[in-house]
Amino acid sequence: MTDLGTETAFEVLARAEQLAREGRDIINLGIGQPDFKTPPNIVAAGNQALVNGHHGYTPAIGIPALREAVARDIEARRGVAVDADRILIVPGGKPTMFFSCLMFGEAGAEIMYPNPGFPIYESAIRFSGATPVPIPLYEDTGFSFDPDEVLGRISPNTRLIIINSPANPTGGVISKDALDTLVAGLAAHPHVCVLSDEIYSRMVYDNQPHVSLLGYEEIRDRLILLDGWSKTYAMTGWRLGYSLWPENLIDLAVKLCVNDHSCVNAATQYAGIEALNGPQDAVDEMMRSFDERRRVIIEELNDIPGVRCVTPGGAFYAFANINGTGQNAKDLQTRLLEEAGVAAVAGTSFGEFGEGFIRFSYANSTENIREAMRRFRELLSDG
Ligand code: PLP
Repeated sequence: MTDLGTETAFEVLARAEQLAREGRDIINLGIGQPDFKTPPNIVAAGNQALVNGHHGYTPAIGIPALREAVARDIEARRGVAVDADRILIVPGGKPTMFFSCLMFGEAGAEIMYPNPGFPIYESAIRFSGATPVPIPLYEDTGFSFDPDEVLGRISPNTRLIIINSPANPTGGVISKDALDTLVAGLAAHPHVCVLSDEIYSRMVYDNQPHVSLLGYEEIRDRLILLDGWSKTYAMTGWRLGYSLWPENLIDLAVKLCVNDHSCVNAATQYAGIEALNGPQDAVDEMMRSFDERRRVIIEELNDIPGVRCVTPGGAFYAFANINGTGQNAKDLQTRLLEEAGVAAVAGTSFGEFGEGFIRFSYANSTENIREAMRRFRELLSDG
């Protein structure tokens, strides 16, 4: 149990809420969730499911209508026809990464994961007994990885490679070229499976298409695809996600669900159908807001002496380089919250390669973002 890590963003959130209760004016750029409410048509569908009496267990794999809606959505957005029987409905994005690590990890096995990256990857890998092998992400390529470096780190013990694009905490998008090279190289390593965390697949800017690893037929039989509703539909608290599993793994994944949580709550699954099948205007509107906020925060960050920030291609995070401030990430995280009332998360919360960076989630109003940046600048100018 002592190998389990955590997600510092939740600790920052708890402290920020405590300070707010004590009367402090706190601007929260810490936690990674949309500040919007779930669109009303989705809420109505969840309510209606309760009124209609959907109060019992559902199949562990998820209700058929939802899995079929997911299959249609995958085909529409990723251009690949998939069998709904390989789609598993789970409570959020996290269970898929945890289940994958439990399946592939054991003492002596190696699992590769992005660093800086979503902290639960490293935590779940360690918990499984496997050795976490970091995939460094580089600021000068917009927080992409070097595919040859990734391929070079594969060993006979490598079981799984975790890829996340668009990414938390960097907002980075891995280029199609890098993915092409990685997938081509994987032909020489047929023992290695891939978990592609595409939870931010709908959050890509500048009219760029989302490049899904599902698009590569040559690795489709060893690919686990993770996506969900939390970010796209502002549904983090509903706990709804899905994964697509290779044919030989889906039954094992379902068994993990039966052992772990039986099924996702029924009403949430009906809300999920409406999210996918209903109008998408609210998603488009949220993305327009995020894009505007992205421009504001990047401009503001790059205007603060000692700070610079590459423009993120996706998600809703700005990963600011603070090396020029002379302060380390954790100390600056603490000072930002305690002295300036701005909740943000130290890059080191996302792995050792996050030193020298602070993650700002720009899921907040442009006024609050500007005020937070004003406070950040003032904090640094005070020394
Ligand atoms: N994957 C990534 C990259 C994330 O950033 C997050 C949440 O922040 C998740 C998965 C987990 O999503 P969920 O809240 O649906 O479990």
